[in-house]
Amino acid sequence: MPNSQTHDIITVFTAAGANAAYFHFAPHPQPNLAILFTAAYLFAGYACAGDLDLVSTEFRRWGPLRFIWLPYQKMVPHRSWISHGLLLGGVVRICYLLAMCALLMWGGLKVYSYFYSPSLNPTAVTAEKWSSLVYLMKARPLETSALIGGFILAGTTHSLSDFTWSWFKRRF
Ligand SMILES: [Zn+2]
Repeated sequence: MPNSQTHDIITVFTAAGANAAYFHFAPHPQPNLAILFTAAYLFAGYACAGDLDLVSTEFRRWGPLRFIWLPYQKMVPHRSWISHGLLLGGVVRICYLLAMCALLMWGGLKVYSYFYSPSLNPTAVTAEKWSSLVYLMKARPLETSALIGGFILAGTTHSLSDFTWSWFKRRF
């Protein structure tokens, strides 16, 4: 498969290409949606694409937070359809990341309530923040679609470059 530098270059060029296509073909292009799409695309391409299923540059880019991907690495075999599925890979990573954020928030609140605020209910607060996020996503469907679309498509591009690279290697 291409190394991380090649993946980075592909991510930057395809993000620029997708933006140019959007502004050329969309009947009423909105710059804010293009910014959200590109930000999500670059973030996912740089640190949240298929190779989080092994100790990779993408994984190291999470720095001290890299531990959140350890269960994912244990559960998902490298280059399986779960991590490198063209659309499924990104969908799984979004769901996993959101679930881990909720779990971290719950854990942090649990520790906080134990030491400082015994009356605080960590589960109720986490559930409340989760519903606020869902409410925000429903209230802003275009922005949500731009973010999710950019995130998933970066994974698709990663997987397509892996498959193309392997195909060329086998063939030539
Ligand atoms: Zn890969």
